[in-house]
Amino acid sequence: MSMSCLLEARAVAHTYRDGPRAVDGVDFRLRERELVVVLGPNGSGKSTLLKLLGGLIPCREGEVLLREKPIGAWRFRERARHVAVVPQFLPALPDLLVADFVLGGRYAHRHGWNQSGAHDRQVVSHALERCDAADVACRSMQEISGGQRQRVLLARALAQEADVLLVDEPTNSLDPEHQVRVFALLAELVAAGRAACVVTHDLNLASQFATRIGLMAAGRMVLDAPPEAVLRREVLQPVYGEHLYYGRFDDGRGGGAPFVLPWLQKP
Ligand code: ADP
Ligand code: MG
Repeated sequence: MSMSCLLEARAVAHTYRDGPRAVDGVDFRLRERELVVVLGPNGSGKSTLLKLLGGLIPCREGEVLLREKPIGAWRFRERARHVAVVPQFLPALPDLLVADFVLGGRYAHRHGWNQSGAHDRQVVSHALERCDAADVACRSMQEISGGQRQRVLLARALAQEADVLLVDEPTNSLDPEHQVRVFALLAELVAAGRAACVVTHDLNLASQFATRIGLMAAGRMVLDAPPEAVLRREVLQPVYGEHLYYGRFDDGRGGGAPFVLPWLQKP
């Protein structure tokens, strides 16, 4: 099986102007058919790393390579055919219908600003369906719920048809059923040959779906390993503290995936 490296970061670092050193020398690789989850406490640099990987923040220290070519050297539309970024937040809510917002994801495939074709509209409705958001297609972006909006953001990235998806906290305001469905969808896309890097706080979805987990702390990647090696007290306690309960899912054979829950032991 081909394991070509789609996206690679070499010793990347980023310091915000008048701000902290948010990312501090990270090496990272994303290959075909990998679903890599990035975990880490608030402010540990996850979103900044994702933006560096996606070229949304210019990489000034170290380098980011998309298909072995520096991310900054790609033309914008060409890059967009290879990597789609799903942000944690939208800077402002667009005054658009959901379907038109998702159609915006097709810009990389359109020639100039001519009207979208039947194929574009077909891709958009398929993307909305896969994200279970077809029912809000004709609603305003400003009126749908936070969870619906999150699924619409993902649909826009799917409509972009990039082979690399960089997704920032996609399940934050989702109900449990939709949390599982979003990760199952990402896993399905990855199994079909794409790659995804997903920032999340959900250790348990990471445990079930990740090929690898990158654990960040204070701008550094402290561990990059399979879930089994990361969801352990020795690894997580120094990063997240002591308020975690460690268990295993029951697979009937005593070999279920590890899980971790926020937990305050009662005296
Ligand atoms: P995470 O996603 O892991 O919570 P971020 O990458 O968003 O962390 O932030 C890492 C650090 O950089 C934090 O200290 C945060 O306050 C800071 N930071 C993030 N974005 C900006 C910005 N636009 N300007 C200045 N500092 C920022
Ligand atoms: Mg973040």
